[in-house]
Amino acid sequence: MADLIDMEKEKVTIKCDSCEKSLMHYIVISVTNTPFKMRATCPFCNGSSGIVSVLGRVFTGPIDKGESSNPTVIEDVIIDDVATFLIKKAKNAS
Ligand SMILES: [Zn+2]
Repeated sequence: MADLIDMEKEKVTIKCDSCEKSLMHYIVISVTNTPFKMRATCPFCNGSSGIVSVLGRVFTGPIDKGESSNPTVIEDVIIDDVATFLIKKAKNAS
């Protein structure tokens, strides 16, 4: 089972360049030769993250309310030269 990914260790958080709130996570699940570029929009200040480039396929996920008082939802993704993840605020219902 050497291929199992250590989720906590490998999880990377993408943050907003402007307000520095956490927007989403990604985990690299397999390595490729082609860079995958992505960024996330910020629902808190209408800014966005910087462009993140990884050599690999990624699994992405939102920020859940257990780790931040500002949880998020990934509403959609626009695939272009850069994949843009459209981030929304999650409802704070508990
Ligand atoms: Zn922001």
